Amino acid sequence: MEIGIEEIYSYMQCPLRYKLTHVDNMPDESQYKNAVLYSKGIHQVISYFYYQVQQGRIPTLRQMRDKWGHYYYSIFEDDARSKENFLTPRTKIDNQRIQQLLTKGYETVYAFYAENKDNPGVPIAVNYPFRIAIDDFLVVTGEFELIREVEDKDQQTKYVEIVDFKTSGYTNDSNNGFFLRHDIRATLMYHAFQETLRSTPDRFVFDYIGTPHTINLERNQNEVNRLKAVLKGISNGIRNEDFFPRQTFACKTCPMKEYCDRLQF
Ligand code: SF4
Repeated sequence: MEIGIEEIYSYMQCPLRYKLTHVDNMPDESQYKNAVLYSKGIHQVISYFYYQVQQGRIPTLRQMRDKWGHYYYSIFEDDARSKENFLTPRTKIDNQRIQQLLTKGYETVYAFYAENKDNPGVPIAVNYPFRIAIDDFLVVTGEFELIREVEDKDQQTKYVEIVDFKTSGYTNDSNNGFFLRHDIRATLMYHAFQETLRSTPDRFVFDYIGTPHTINLERNQNEVNRLKAVLKGISNGIRNEDFFPRQTFACKTCPMKEYCDRLQF
């Protein structure tokens, strides 16, 4: 069986929701939520920046700005599919929110550019896909957003880091770092780095764009074993078709809620 990180999160959130969206292929309108589309667009602009750096060029701020503008107009203004289905503004406030995203995107792109243009490091891989076997039954796929070599001028050393850029804004982990310590996506990337490049990254960071916050995540073999335990549970659940409804506060925003509510078991 082969699964991607989004499917893993989907099953963890609710096995029934996983079945409806990934087995029965019911349309999942959460993929068209403004926040999801916004995040995808900003990550496309970041990828563009580092692809250019790989070619030996630092793009101009104007080019970065245009990249975001092009994405915005193709998705939020022109895309017939999303417009007809999910994004058609229904009220004046909806319309204002979509317009605010354009400005918010420009601000985020400006902040990213200011933070990275003078010291982008040396990109080793940008949007680099990985595919790793967890056991005889399970292969997991994903992507590194950025692997780069950075020079620490004070220490006069170079180090290799995996960087995952965050567009959601920084919030304190009020659970004493529990969720960051056990963040599955981060551990999966760390493990994939070990498996595909046959070495260990010097650092793994979450970089919160537009804030001074960069979080250095420590990973070790115990955390990799914990990840494998989670993946084994998910893999067993899917193979055994263990698709139970997991009613939590997340049901409030679940796009399958009405259907789920009427389902006969
Ligand atoms: S409404 Fe809740 S229980 Fe039903 S599919 Fe969605 S997340 Fe699962």
